[in-house]
Amino acid sequence: MEILEKKTNSEHEKVFIGHEPVIGYRGIIAIHSTARGPAVGGTRLWNYTTEDEALTDALRLSRGMTYKNALAALPLGGGKAVVIGDNKSLDREAIFTAHGRFVEALGGDFVTAEDVGTSPSDMEIVRRETSHVAGLLSGTGDPSPYTARGVFRAIQAAAKHVWKSEELSGVTVALQGCGNVGYHLAKNLHTAGAKLIVSDIDTRKIRPLVEEFDAVVVETEEIIGVGADIFAPCALGGVINDRSIPQLRAQIVAGAANNQLLEDRHGEMLKERGILYVPDYAANSGGVFSGCVELLGWKAEYVSKKVDEIYNTVLSILELAAAENISTSKAADRIAESRLR
Ligand code: NAD
Repeated sequence: MEILEKKTNSEHEKVFIGHEPVIGYRGIIAIHSTARGPAVGGTRLWNYTTEDEALTDALRLSRGMTYKNALAALPLGGGKAVVIGDNKSLDREAIFTAHGRFVEALGGDFVTAEDVGTSPSDMEIVRRETSHVAGLLSGTGDPSPYTARGVFRAIQAAAKHVWKSEELSGVTVALQGCGNVGYHLAKNLHTAGAKLIVSDIDTRKIRPLVEEFDAVVVETEEIIGVGADIFAPCALGGVINDRSIPQLRAQIVAGAANNQLLEDRHGEMLKERGILYVPDYAANSGGVFSGCVELLGWKAEYVSKKVDEIYNTVLSILELAAAENISTSKAADRIAESRLR
């Protein structure tokens, strides 16, 4: 494995490119901060068109992990791995063996788990090469139900803030992305009596939500502007941008996707439009809490308690933003940064 340190103009502590030409492995590990502990972050497998695109994603996602872990007051830093490849055709055994060697070479400064495109069984392959991995089949497994529960609690907090009631019965939620988190979030929302409008680029992912939770399906390009009370982005990042903000009809944006704001200024734009944004890393920290069973020896009941507390964390962010007349994203950053100092 060829590992090169990549110099960037960003605030990251270290960024590495790993390359194993024989099997076609190409990965990036970005360590944003170890100020609060080892850099923890998932491994994303995605068919990036260029290495620059993959690098940008790794830099943004790892920074988000630092803020997420700091906001959650965890003794963990922020990092992220991305692996460039086609999820449908690659040799998982070879790729994740190489990835495990890459993680191991960093000597514990970076600890990984699954993310978009990877699964607990992929992490079992990584585990053969390194102990610096969580979210294993033999451990806490899939974090998505916890992430989804946390997003659901975040949505309740936002509803309480905007409508003075956390009751979601009869509220319409537009859900973008019906993958692991999207499915479990839909389940929580349906149980609470919410109505669902959903979209996914992969039609196979939509069917369970239609059959089990009475979801109505719209085309992928329609979901942002659809008539709904809440927009829940649970696909990829950058979905809140110059083009999408004018289309939004929801009063609340709250979902699981990382880096929902394409740029920081889009948080201000949402505020100007009177749309309440729940900062992504406040809403989606349930998965990290579940990983703390393996990372920090937490008990399952404590994980559930911490996931439940996302409600209070989100409420305090929304109250700070209102009191200071700043965007909610800025309010969350302020709290996280105070814990990084
Ligand atoms: P996933 O891969 O299981 O699901 C993502 C879904 O989004 C897929 O079904 C995909 O087809 C769909 N999608 C992609 N582009 C789309 C588009 N333009 N329109 C509609 N659908 C689209 O991933 P996941 O684990 O459910 O994670 C979803 C998001 O939440 C990601 O951004 C991830 O980083 C974030 N997140 C996940 C967790 C977790 O515990 N899994 C934790 C924190 C954050």
